[in-house]
Amino acid sequence: MWSFSFVVPTLLILLIILLFFFSLPRLSIKRNRYFVEMIIAETVTIISDISSSYADNHYELFSVKILYLLNLLYFVVFFTRSFIMYKFTVGILGVTMGASKAVRFIIRIPYYFCVMMSVLSFFDDLVFYVDATGYHGGKLYNILYYCAFFYVLLSFLAVSHFRKRLARRRERYSMLLYNAIIMAGIVIRLLLPRYLLMDTFVLMAVLVVYLAFENPEYYLELRSIVFNSRALREYLEEHTGREDCRCLGIVVRKYHEMRDIYGASRTDEALNMIGRYIVQLCSGKKVFYCRKGRFIVLGDGENNYGTICRDMMERFREAWKSRDMEIYLDVRFAIIELSDKVGSADVILNTMAKGLEEADRSDSEMPVMITEKDLVSTEREMSIKRCLENAIDEDGIELFLQPLVDAETGKVIGAEALSRLRDGNGELIAPGSFIGIAEKNGRINELGDQMFEKTCRFIKDNDIEKMGIKWLNVNLSPIQFMQKGLADRYAAVTKKYGIDPEMIHLEITEESLIDETFMNRQVKAFNDNGFKFVLDDYGTGYSNLARLKKCPFINVKLDISLVRDYCKQPDEILPMMIGAFKNMGFGITSEGVEDDEMAALMRKIGCDYLQGYYYSKPIPVDEFVERYSH
Ligand code: C2E
Ligand code: MG
Ligand code: MG
Repeated sequence: MWSFSFVVPTLLILLIILLFFFSLPRLSIKRNRYFVEMIIAETVTIISDISSSYADNHYELFSVKILYLLNLLYFVVFFTRSFIMYKFTVGILGVTMGASKAVRFIIRIPYYFCVMMSVLSFFDDLVFYVDATGYHGGKLYNILYYCAFFYVLLSFLAVSHFRKRLARRRERYSMLLYNAIIMAGIVIRLLLPRYLLMDTFVLMAVLVVYLAFENPEYYLELRSIVFNSRALREYLEEHTGREDCRCLGIVVRKYHEMRDIYGASRTDEALNMIGRYIVQLCSGKKVFYCRKGRFIVLGDGENNYGTICRDMMERFREAWKSRDMEIYLDVRFAIIELSDKVGSADVILNTMAKGLEEADRSDSEMPVMITEKDLVSTEREMSIKRCLENAIDEDGIELFLQPLVDAETGKVIGAEALSRLRDGNGELIAPGSFIGIAEKNGRINELGDQMFEKTCRFIKDNDIEKMGIKWLNVNLSPIQFMQKGLADRYAAVTKKYGIDPEMIHLEITEESLIDETFMNRQVKAFNDNGFKFVLDDYGTGYSNLARLKKCPFINVKLDISLVRDYCKQPDEILPMMIGAFKNMGFGITSEGVEDDEMAALMRKIGCDYLQGYYYSKPIPVDEFVERYSH
């Protein structure tokens, strides 16, 4: 006699999980589909287990055919469940079940074989048989266990081999636990077959998966009305390049300011209302909330984003009202056309983020249209980012030097150290493309340290006096300049290489001078160690002469734009400015000297040093040594 003490409560608990799972929005991604398959397989197996066991217990009430069919159904769903549970494991790991069709087929053979043997039992009684005394196991009954063991072992192998594909440790342990519980379930079934306990163990395994990965709440945001950015990423990772689709980005303008004005809870309440409104307005499309007031709507086939944007603009002219609040917000849009040519999910998400930032700043109510060109430029930016990370990790930032020429003698007297990066093809990337990225992702300090050290090494390793070089200029971006203890650190590096800090001039821009107290302290610390400062890019910032005067620069470098403007249309202002700087005791360098006319003009108005392509572009150190060591 089979006992139902465990299997019936198991079914009831499973029904509760089903109810919760299906009552929330779900995204059509592989993981979810496999999970749905699994819980359906589990439900059908339990129902079939209960009905066939009941029929077996009361065999006298049923015909042999019915008994046979009910038991056959149970065997088939049992094998199917074992296979689906394995499929779920490989699905979660992101492994396509065997690279080729052949491997996929081989993996399925035990499943097909067991199903076939169960069907054939009608003729050969090998797996089970039914006679006048009811249901009985046959000689090959144990294939039930072999099949289940086979798939659970395969799952263990997959987990141990591909575990790194699961980002979090919690996920890895959950997958192990999931398979361990299934294994325990099979053993228990072997030991206590009458108690129908395996279904309970499978339910436990389902619960582990539900809590670790498949709780739909993990993918939802704003009171579970819309999907979150994690869901968006997973969805795009699975779907991009496969189907054409248009993507609408919606941004609540000046989100942070609005949060400051209205307070966090009221803004959140308004966002919930906006989320609900967007879901209604864009019915049939997938709506995601990506923090900071940004929504993404994905839709395929026919799209009417123009009308949606207009309706939304109208709606935002009115307040978002609830019982105790009334908020006025503004909205902007960006639209991106996704074709099968576009790159990865990351490229799309980053380009969309940029598009929404632009839309946020824009006064125009027209959506920002994101083109394929924008996607390509984001892709390039991301690849530069990767090159930069690698180069910084491997000390691979290259040192280039551009000579500084004495305006009087026309001879090289110094050089500016400029960084260069190489992409995967060995092509040079100019700092304009990566210094900003390094400043944003916080690696500018490491980059600067490497450049400083390489400059010191260059001075130590070469007879720079022979080249006529008296000093080298090294750039310090404002973020680097803000580091406490930098002066001592740099002094230690010069000491390590046995060079005089006076040989290094640090170029800073006016941005570094904003915090006057800190600036004074920092400049003093550097000066005490023997370093000197040069003001870079003069003419691009908000030049406050009073402040510049307080700073003991030895030199001011006129920015290329200022030099170009003056050379195009000379006036009185620049010479007067140079006169003023000279009165303050600053030397003057002209950047961007590209021909002899410019050189003559800049010399005439009082520049002491000249730098530009006319003399030389920045070149690798070896080339520099070769060119100037004579
Ligand atoms: P910068 O410090 O003002 O450097 C001068 C820039 O002008 C260099 O660009 C140089 O190649 C360019 N240049 C020089 N002469 C001419 C000319 O005659 N015509 C034209 N069109 N350009 C000329 P580069 O090397 O691309 O560097 C750009 C900026 O990147 C630098 O401007 C500097 O602010 C920053 N940078 C470069 N290396 C580093 C570094 O190691 N650390 C930091 N923090 N910033 C760096
Ligand atoms: Mg510079
Ligand atoms: Mg400059």
